[in-house]
Amino acid sequence: MAFQAPKGTYDVLPGTPFLAARDGLLEPARLAGYGYVETPAFEDTELFARGVGASTDVVTKEMYTFSDRGGRSLTLRPEGTAGVVRAVLEHGLHHGQLPVKVRYAGPMFRAERPQKGRFRQFQQSGVEAIGLTDPALDAEVVALAWEGYQALGLRHVRLLLTSLGDPTCRPAYREELAAYLAGLDLDEATRERARINPLRVLDDKRPELQALLADAPLIIDRLCADCKAHHEAVVAGLESLGVPFEPAPRLVRGLDYYMRTTFEFVHDGLGAQSALGGGGRYDGLSESIGGPPLPGIGWALGVERTLLALEAEGVTIPQDDRLQVFVVPLGSAAKAWAVATVGRLRAQGVAADLAYGDRGLKGAMKAADRSGARWAVVVGDRDLDAGVAQLKDLSNGEQTAVPLSDLLEKLA
Ligand code: AMP
Repeated sequence: MAFQAPKGTYDVLPGTPFLAARDGLLEPARLAGYGYVETPAFEDTELFARGVGASTDVVTKEMYTFSDRGGRSLTLRPEGTAGVVRAVLEHGLHHGQLPVKVRYAGPMFRAERPQKGRFRQFQQSGVEAIGLTDPALDAEVVALAWEGYQALGLRHVRLLLTSLGDPTCRPAYREELAAYLAGLDLDEATRERARINPLRVLDDKRPELQALLADAPLIIDRLCADCKAHHEAVVAGLESLGVPFEPAPRLVRGLDYYMRTTFEFVHDGLGAQSALGGGGRYDGLSESIGGPPLPGIGWALGVERTLLALEAEGVTIPQDDRLQVFVVPLGSAAKAWAVATVGRLRAQGVAADLAYGDRGLKGAMKAADRSGARWAVVVGDRDLDAGVAQLKDLSNGEQTAVPLSDLLEKLA
């Protein structure tokens, strides 16, 4: 074979439920008034450096950055929020009705070490609700992701929830934590991470480090009055929406802009890459990219890991592009009839195809089985003269003769 897809990428091929998962995750948001947006796959590099955070792994190690022919530094987007907030500001959407509610889906790019559930080009479905700090909105946003997973049939998704505080309470906590970490016997790499962002050390999965951190101070116990009230309102909102969650006081996420409400969806059937999706409040993001103060909250859910979770739970969702009817013509008059009939079915919104290539009955029936259609219509030239077709239910092999005059109505 001459070429292969680049390392860390993959092809979506026909016969998979890719679109059903990608769009299904967003269906509850669509019903809740989140309008569809699409932003460029690349942006000014500075947007991510400022919007995602210069100290993050994503920005320091994982960006696909290149200069275009005009010498501009551009970066393939590693995440969706910075671009969406840029678009909201650029088009003044925040001067209209608040919150601005949007949903998006598309590829993101990070130069990570590929492994199961981790790619260099991967797909996220996401939403953002911008312009208000109302905790009821936090609860809605979190619930919409939860409902997206439920609607796909996933039953073992766990929601982890916490608050990361805000510029009133976080700086003092950060210092307290840094002082605490300085008193521990940490390895050099961890010490370095503590220096860049002490909060990130808390999220380290190594059991020996977790044991060492057992008594570490937690931000959830140090929230200022406003953050505490906000968090309690979010918790009450989720409870009244019937969304179960687990308090996760050590949850920290990889992007710098999160504050207050922060959450992650995990699944235990995925191995090392257990994070299905996550998000949070990013009230400082707009200002960090040169905009006015503009609070926001959102999430991004990984589509590949959602598909892995469906597989792990043994849940099948309808694959994309599923045919309903497959017509098998035997003879030239039957073929002309089949082409016309398939055209009429499609015009009525029935997904229909026919056996091209003038195959015999056996080959054409094989094609019908492989097509995935529920119904096969078998017609020979003599059937046409007699005014009947054989309608076969491919799910159980039952076959009945149907008058041609009734066929369209019956199939539609
Ligand atoms: P993040 O934007 O880092 O908060 O990630 C949100 C979700 O996107 C994660 O929970 C994953 O499901 C998915 N994701 C992030 N990075 C990758 C990757 N390299 N490959 C596949 N999925 C990813």
